[in-house]
Amino acid sequence: MIEKLNRRDFIRAGAAAGLTAAVPQALLGQAPAVIAPKSARPVVISSANGNVFKNGGDVTGVQKAFGMITQGSDVLDAVVAGVNILELDPQEDSVGYGGLPNAEGVVQLDSSCMHGPRRQAGGVASLEGVRTPSLVAKAVLEQTDHHLLVGKGAQEFARNLGFKIEDDLNTEKSRRLWLDWKRRVDPSHYLDPRKRAEAGHQAALQMVREGLIRQEHLWGTINCDGVNAKGEICGVTTTSGLSWKIPGRVGDSPILGAGLYVDGEIGAAGSTGRGEANLYNLSSFLIVEAMRRGAHPKDAGMEALKRVVANTVEKRLLNDRGRPAFDLNFYILNKRGEYAGVSMYASHYAVCTEKGPETLPTEAMFEGKA
Ligand code: ASP
Repeated sequence: MIEKLNRRDFIRAGAAAGLTAAVPQALLGQAPAVIAPKSARPVVISSANGNVFKNGGDVTGVQKAFGMITQGSDVLDAVVAGVNILELDPQEDSVGYGGLPNAEGVVQLDSSCMHGPRRQAGGVASLEGVRTPSLVAKAVLEQTDHHLLVGKGAQEFARNLGFKIEDDLNTEKSRRLWLDWKRRVDPSHYLDPRKRAEAGHQAALQMVREGLIRQEHLWGTINCDGVNAKGEICGVTTTSGLSWKIPGRVGDSPILGAGLYVDGEIGAAGSTGRGEANLYNLSSFLIVEAMRRGAHPKDAGMEALKRVVANTVEKRLLNDRGRPAFDLNFYILNKRGEYAGVSMYASHYAVCTEKGPETLPTEAMFEGKA
């Protein structure tokens, strides 16, 4: 239940703290909403891949995170351990080791994480050579005064902390797929960035049609959020980003408020899909703010999708029905353990509760496909 401090309570609380005189009258009506700190139902929610890949082990990402949470681990440690399973899995080509590389064949990874109770955050972008960018993002959170390190600096930071830096995070599969894509792209298009981008996009879509890569892995990411019985909530997002991206392109995943946002008093939201659409609207922040005003996770997610739809006006981004021609998914959890997966078009998400891991259909904004 969202409980707004009413004006009288707020004044009483302020008076008790001897603060009333210092608080401008105009602000008294804007006291922040907090979700009452009752005990929560432990939940882990993630993109659907969180209940697919096991990296040769016994459990999926959401199972791992849920098990750790219910055994008392810190929630951020748990969700990061969950996504590590995918980052390290060579078969999962949208995340970490074996993630599909950029246009030059280099795997560049993005990640962010947030710790609700500690009010701390960390992220890395365009990180090369480290299989588990989520652990580097967590190190940024825990060991620096900063929120985001990028490129060479992020790699140096990781090296200094003892992370193994590898020359190439491609697997045989991701390298083969990149070579296939490269063969389809006329190098002369480098002369015209617009044509080249279009040729690259068309080549990628053709590879999806031919079944070489999964539609959801053209983009592809894992976001994983968890809450424990005390209502402590944390989240992490990690990705190899848009396949065949321009080197240096950073998507929404490492950007707080876009690919992930956690407010320890309210809830968490994270995203997969077209990062540019999400970055433009800072949807995860929008979703958490909607929950702060009392919205259920599903309604908060729908509000963000509507905003994305309203801001998608360029013809090249619209399909023949005039709707967004891309997928975008949000994974949303509040402090009480209520959750939702919402998406622009039909999709799936993963969840783990006391009932065990499940893959569920998202609430979709539109029927059909992008
Ligand atoms: N949102 C990620 C990005 O734009 C990719 C994805 O989730 O599919 O980098």
